[in-house]
Amino acid sequence: MWSIKPLRFGRFRHGSASRRLKGVRAHKFTGLAPYCVSCVSIRAIAQRTMTITKPDRRLAKIVAVALGAALLLTRGTGWEPLKTAAAQTTTAATSTNLETLEVRPSFFVIAGGGANVGVQVGEDGVVVVDTGTAADAQAILAAIKRISPKPIRYIIDTGPDADHIGGNQTLAKAGERVLSGGGGRNANSMLPIVGVENMIRHLTKLPADALPNETFHYPRKSMYLNGEAIEVLSQPDAHTDSDAFVFFRRSDVVVAGDILDTRQFPVIDVARGGSIQGEIAALNRLVELAVPSVPIVSREAGTIVVPGHGHLCDQYDVIEYRDMVTIIRDRVRELIKAGRSLAEVKAAQPAKGYVGRYGGPGGGETTDRFIEAVYQGLVKEKA
Ligand SMILES: [Zn+2]
Repeated sequence: MWSIKPLRFGRFRHGSASRRLKGVRAHKFTGLAPYCVSCVSIRAIAQRTMTITKPDRRLAKIVAVALGAALLLTRGTGWEPLKTAAAQTTTAATSTNLETLEVRPSFFVIAGGGANVGVQVGEDGVVVVDTGTAADAQAILAAIKRISPKPIRYIIDTGPDADHIGGNQTLAKAGERVLSGGGGRNANSMLPIVGVENMIRHLTKLPADALPNETFHYPRKSMYLNGEAIEVLSQPDAHTDSDAFVFFRRSDVVVAGDILDTRQFPVIDVARGGSIQGEIAALNRLVELAVPSVPIVSREAGTIVVPGHGHLCDQYDVIEYRDMVTIIRDRVRELIKAGRSLAEVKAAQPAKGYVGRYGGPGGGETTDRFIEAVYQGLVKEKA
């Protein structure tokens, strides 16, 4: 039966890691049964919602109904997150492939159009973090318009990948720059697109109006919009050499980009300056930035971390992910110390125990790519 108790953002917080995993597995969608609201968390629902693919229309409807019912049941408990998301999820599931989640009163995540897109709204207008793929740009723009009628004021890119910056041009064109004397359109000035300076080196084929035009090479660039401080925090040589976290301090949301990808092992793009050392340093930084809901753990509040892809996280999830990456790094390091070649390292399966969860779909390609990147980073370190 449905039980009326506040939904939890985290999943199975009081259980062990294995219980948490088991719980998630036990509720994997079979299409046969609807959600049990008493034991499925908002985030578990969000996770399903955010990973729904085109053919899963029926699934999407079930999620939307479950989410709607869940929210109805929590009404009056004083804890009403994702209210708008329920309505929008229902709409989105029937019209496009995008899903919109309200994660904080002024902060939304649009999923399904490439990278997770962060949308901060308020009286100053809209700040967008990552813009998804070029193919989904119009749909993402429409989804943003459904969240707020105010103009887009800023775009912030977390990195140079096409699925994060593909909508830059379309969204920038639709936006209106904030002028020093107040709002208003100025046809001659492009909308600011913020990104780490190195990004430009990787995006030589893009037209000028799709590129970041407010780049920075120092650790932190900040701004203050919609009543809160926004920090763009450079993370050197992690997924690439031009990654950044975007921290919304009042909303207490960090958009982490591809340094955190809950679907798989992190992609370390060695060719574009990524490194295992930088990846772990960045994950450590993310753990530091995020505050868990202590001492009142039952409240399930705390900092929300939006990964580049996959479900929303709290600090515990980031710790788990960081530990996974660190353990595999240490195993590879031991093998290198023992004089093993790359082929021998791969044969020794240093990612054992994590492949099922983070190995991506079929073939072991994701695992291979990750191990190779770790190996290359550590061999360089040794030299
Ligand atoms: Zn990505």
